[in-house]
Amino acid sequence: MQVNWREIPASRNSYAILKAACETSGWQLDPVKNPEADVTCYSLNSINKQQYQDEIAEADCITIVGGPHATACWREVTAYADYVIVGEGEFTLPHLLDDLEDGGCGHIPGIATGSWYEPVSSSVRLDAYPAFSEVKGYVEISRGCPFSCGYCQTPQIFGHCMRHRSIDEIAKYANRYGQARFVSPNAFAYGSDGIHPRLDKIEHLLQKLTHETFFGTFPSEVRPEFISQQSIDIIHDYCANTKLHFGAQSGSDTILARLNRGHTIADAIRAAELCHNAGITPIIDFIVGLPFETDEDQLKTLSAIRNLARIGKIHVHQFIPLPGTPLAGTRARSLLTETKKILGELALRGKLTGSWNEPEIRFYKTRK
Ligand code: SF4
Repeated sequence: MQVNWREIPASRNSYAILKAACETSGWQLDPVKNPEADVTCYSLNSINKQQYQDEIAEADCITIVGGPHATACWREVTAYADYVIVGEGEFTLPHLLDDLEDGGCGHIPGIATGSWYEPVSSSVRLDAYPAFSEVKGYVEISRGCPFSCGYCQTPQIFGHCMRHRSIDEIAKYANRYGQARFVSPNAFAYGSDGIHPRLDKIEHLLQKLTHETFFGTFPSEVRPEFISQQSIDIIHDYCANTKLHFGAQSGSDTILARLNRGHTIADAIRAAELCHNAGITPIIDFIVGLPFETDEDQLKTLSAIRNLARIGKIHVHQFIPLPGTPLAGTRARSLLTETKKILGELALRGKLTGSWNEPEIRFYKTRK
């Protein structure tokens, strides 16, 4: 049975992970630009799913779809895909391929079809699978998150209990290339329960890495309350990054509480100042247009953005109500004229990046 992987730029790291996982069961995932016989696998997020659903529905082969959107909206996806992987793919995908090869109907845990859904009965242990094989990926060091931020799909997909790849396994993959970058919901939570930092474990990990290392910056951002003089010192001692990337998300404590962020704007300002004083550039995420944001809340966010832009770089995006999250089904509120003006000015001065347009304009305009 020939098994293919549909190339989609946003799912490149998923390809690296799943290709390596499938190889441990003897399956090769070959990259294709169109669905091809016998089986084609997809990983979709809620932004790009519109682009691929007709292609999947019309495919002349077996289609298997996973990814954040498939996990959040598996019922919807079964309307156009043959098999939907709900949750993590490392165990489920090769298991499904084995079953289909043996003449089964794919009725196994973690799979949904138009006729049935069998929930998974366990979660993936990261050390049980390679981080990647010949397709290079970022090394995923941790999965799961104990927080429940209203806009975030991560805990819905991976659960609230943090799991970590072991230090030796991380070093094995990170030391293969000249530069090491990692995937984590919060790099400074490595080795911990996700709430109480274990800087001793992070230091132990970084001591094992032999090449240029980027930690706490893309794609392993951190939470603001995990930024301390001690965590910054570790970055200085072992890493190549001159930036730390974290989310402030709103300048209003009322909004932060409604988002369940678990920190205040004062925590974010303190983190940015600690970075700045230590010669590290803070990259700070904000979300604008949250559905319950009043004009006053939005102006507080704008004020925080202006102030923090003096010592760091700001990354802004407009709120997107992702399926499966507590804020699914809500709508982004409009931006004040003042907000658009200031964000535009900061962008022109090179202090701010991101996009605060409607997501439809942002992602689909160029295709028409
Ligand atoms: S935004 Fe970050 S801290 Fe919040 S739930 Fe998602 S992964 Fe966890």
